[in-house]
Amino acid sequence: MTLDPTTTDMVGLRDSIASKQVSATEATRTYLDRIAAHNDGLGAYLEVHDERALQRAADVDSGKITGELAGVPIAVKDLFCTSYGHTTASSRMLEHYRSPFTATAVQRLEDAGAVILGKTSMDEFAMGSSCETCFRGGAKNPWDTTRVPGGSSGGSAAAVAADLCAAALGSDTGGSIRQPAALTGTVGLKPTYGRISRYGMVAFASSLDQCGPFARSVRDAALLLRIMAGKDPMDGTTAPIVVEPDLADVDQPVESLRIGIAKQYILEGANDPAVQQAVDNAVKFYESHGATVVEVDLPHTRYGIPVYYVVATAECSSNLARYDGVHFGHRTGEPVNDIVELFSKSRAEGFGDEVKRRVMLGTYALSSGYYDAYYNRALKVRRRIKQDFDDAFLQCDAILCPTTTAPAFKIGEKSDDPLSMYLNDVYTVNANLAGIAGVSLPAGTTEVDGKQLPIGIQLLGDAFAEAKLLRIARLYEEGHAHSALRPSI
Ligand code: GLN
Repeated sequence: MTLDPTTTDMVGLRDSIASKQVSATEATRTYLDRIAAHNDGLGAYLEVHDERALQRAADVDSGKITGELAGVPIAVKDLFCTSYGHTTASSRMLEHYRSPFTATAVQRLEDAGAVILGKTSMDEFAMGSSCETCFRGGAKNPWDTTRVPGGSSGGSAAAVAADLCAAALGSDTGGSIRQPAALTGTVGLKPTYGRISRYGMVAFASSLDQCGPFARSVRDAALLLRIMAGKDPMDGTTAPIVVEPDLADVDQPVESLRIGIAKQYILEGANDPAVQQAVDNAVKFYESHGATVVEVDLPHTRYGIPVYYVVATAECSSNLARYDGVHFGHRTGEPVNDIVELFSKSRAEGFGDEVKRRVMLGTYALSSGYYDAYYNRALKVRRRIKQDFDDAFLQCDAILCPTTTAPAFKIGEKSDDPLSMYLNDVYTVNANLAGIAGVSLPAGTTEVDGKQLPIGIQLLGDAFAEAKLLRIARLYEEGHAHSALRPSI
């Protein structure tokens, strides 16, 4: 059997390798050939580890490497440390950085037998929604290469959408998995805060960052979650709860399903008609499958963006202080008079404009005299946003809403307008502020300028309720053919 990556999901491929219909080497070569043919145009990967990947595939074929993901080729966002290749977070600051260790999430995939193909492009330090703030090249949307793939995990999204890997890892601080998943027609899961270890994941905003998968199907995302999830002694923020053995059994029914709809997620005039239609159709779909639709109230939703951009920037200004050219990161080659000048020149050269903007905003919000007015107040409102969700999940099993207001925008369209870029996250940031789980699912395409562009719908679930959330997601996926849609590349 010859492998056609455009007609299988990761679990399907895994099964073909396990039953020896396809060898791991053949699978890995097939993806590497596709990368060689298409990556120049798409810019999904920053670095491909061909030799290492083929060696691991050979070890799977010889039986030396086994496991639930044996031989499955996976891509990794370039902010997960790997003890091979570079880890740059798409920043000049880390251009030459080689990590001495591998992130727990990546290690758990490798321990299960996965073959890591390489590192994918992203917005610098995961700050952005378009994959345009990378130091070197940004990824493009495989559905229309004049458009962004979303961000910040745009390279991982583009790689999955174009079948340049079977699945990929991303990180989601304010939407960076779900938004690019929606714009590329892939499944993107942001797990609950504390579900997956962030050890070895370059930090942006530590109270919001969460690692998660991009996948072709809900069952793929669920399996990757189950394999990566769980307590890690190297990350004190991982939750000490036992990973449910049936976390990946997405075909189990959800009894007496209640789907929540919040008026705060239907912003008057903001949603593209095709996006609104997709959500409305999904509501009807669930109703026709026996679900009760309940209206839930999330009154503090509209404070999400301002709160997020205070909390995230404050935390990033602190996290990024370590990149001073001495402890970590790029060091200026210019002559300097003292250590302060060394720090400031190194940082001025190493960071891009968006990162500098965030560090300045965050430093301001934390500065004495403004701390209470901005940072402390933001924390109080954040608590209310969380309370809204706690109340809502007493009444429903999942909240259905758009992932983004519109399909992918043009490259360059928002790059000079940070506020309009930030507003892109209107439907995603609140899940991070509340620490809950969210998944974006392919919901069909809409024609824009003669091209079909994907649309996503989002399901939000309570903290640590991913098993239920993914079963609800699976029900939608099963009832539609959206996941089979592919861009012509
Ligand atoms: N787009 C958001 C931001 O720019 C979210 C980024 C993310 O989730 N990493 O901060």
